[in-house]
Amino acid sequence: MPRGVKTDVRTYQMYINSEWVDSKSNKTFAVYDPATEEVIAQVPDANTDDVNGAVAAARAAFDDGSWATSTAQERGRVLFRVAEKIRQNAAMLAELESRNTGKPIVEAEFDINDVATCYEYYGGLATKVLGFVNPVPDNAVSLTLKEPIGVAGQIIPWNYPLLMAAWKLAPALAAGCTCILKPAEQTPLTVLEMANWLADVGLPPGVVNIVTGFGETCGAPLVQHPDVNKIAFTGSAAVGKIIVKQAADTVKRVTLELGGKSPNIFFADADFEAAIDGALFGVFINQGEVCSAGSRILVQKSIYKKFVDAMAEKAKKIKLGAPLDRDTKMGPLVSKEQYERVRSYQEVGKKEAKLATGGGRAEKFAKGYYVEPTIFYDLDNSARIAREEIFGPVAAVIPFEDEKDAVKIANDSPYGLAAAVWTRDIFKAFRTVKSLRAGIVWVNHMQPTYVEAPWGGYKQSGFGRELGPWGIEEYLETKQVYINLNEAPIGWY
Ligand code: NAP
Ligand code: MG
Repeated sequence: MPRGVKTDVRTYQMYINSEWVDSKSNKTFAVYDPATEEVIAQVPDANTDDVNGAVAAARAAFDDGSWATSTAQERGRVLFRVAEKIRQNAAMLAELESRNTGKPIVEAEFDINDVATCYEYYGGLATKVLGFVNPVPDNAVSLTLKEPIGVAGQIIPWNYPLLMAAWKLAPALAAGCTCILKPAEQTPLTVLEMANWLADVGLPPGVVNIVTGFGETCGAPLVQHPDVNKIAFTGSAAVGKIIVKQAADTVKRVTLELGGKSPNIFFADADFEAAIDGALFGVFINQGEVCSAGSRILVQKSIYKKFVDAMAEKAKKIKLGAPLDRDTKMGPLVSKEQYERVRSYQEVGKKEAKLATGGGRAEKFAKGYYVEPTIFYDLDNSARIAREEIFGPVAAVIPFEDEKDAVKIANDSPYGLAAAVWTRDIFKAFRTVKSLRAGIVWVNHMQPTYVEAPWGGYKQSGFGRELGPWGIEEYLETKQVYINLNEAPIGWY
């Protein structure tokens, strides 16, 4: 896409079996820039026919064996070359990601760096997948072999488009799986750009296929397809539940990375300035469109009012602006639909709580899905804005009495993705960490995420873990091999 030409509408094709193709129906759908509300691209509207073609390509690529039985060194090198291409094209990818999602360019640059790091990590890990020798009590050798699961269907959301694709593709490819990836309807562009290099880096045809389309007409047929062995899904809990049901008929392996309503807990002894910063960063980074957003801010009563006031004062200074402006700290929400959803929760909040700041559209912008960073306080954990995932810059600040009370409120949620606790008392910190039912718990920080460490939820935030060695494990089957070393007959009959 020519740089700076904001009205250029490019028509993309999708990537199946190493070929660029239109949808079989020839239909396309529009992709938007949420800051200008303009169409920036058209992409193929894939349905069951297209998905069938992509699955056939991935199945053939797996069954022909050249990828699944390629050496781990070879697969690792391919992933290193993907990372290299990402780094060489980082500026273009960050700009496109920022334009398409609305996220600040500086954040998009971090994301693209993390994308490359993810391919590098799994490029290295490919050669470190180990089996076992099992200590069976007989004259025999029992081995555990690790083998790729087969064809993986991968469905991702719009908040970190190329990064969510990397979290799925990199471990799957390292394991020797073949993939069909469906990006979110709102944000398919960066992964299509990346597909441009996949043949050059040495991926055989059919190993990675990208199908663009909608959940019901493109995602669902992928989940139901009998030739797909595994579905890796990141998205909302509502859709995650549908996926589990749809995958049941073919007993697919499923991993789910779902939403959250993560508590960010502040004890009175925490460093106050760091705490205010951490509360804002935890819930407002990426416009609050973060699965692990610290959207329930639990604050000890003795510092509660002071805390709310300090948060509100600082939140008012957050610089909203054009995504490509390097000073921007918060861009527009990703889509009209998401904007309306967040706006409706701002109105719900006004009925359930007191408003410290924000509460509406950011009116200084003539166009674009901008909303004000919003902080509600004086509410109970039973309020809708404390229970339902909003996925936007809306915080609910809830008071608590003591440690026991904090843990009780924190765990009183159907979700269990993430949590954070702020205190200078190491004993209190660790007691709280152990009591929290969440897959990730930060102490005196919230949000840092590293490819080396596991990511995933408890309760209705999903199951399975991405990243680190846990991430590749989800793409591997375990085969036991038993070798009898007795040359004589068993002698039973
Ligand atoms: P979503 O509506 O659940 O959609 C996620 C993906 O599923 C999209 O690609 C969507 O297609 C597809 N989909 C929708 N219905 C489907 C169906 N019936 N069958 C198969 N696929 C279907 O979520 P979203 O609005 O894109 O993203 C926000 C959600 O993702 C939040 O709940 C957030 O917490 C969660 N999230 C979780 C993590 C994590 O690591 N735990 C990370 C990021 C985001 P369309 O393109 O048509 O929508
Ligand atoms: Mg959706």
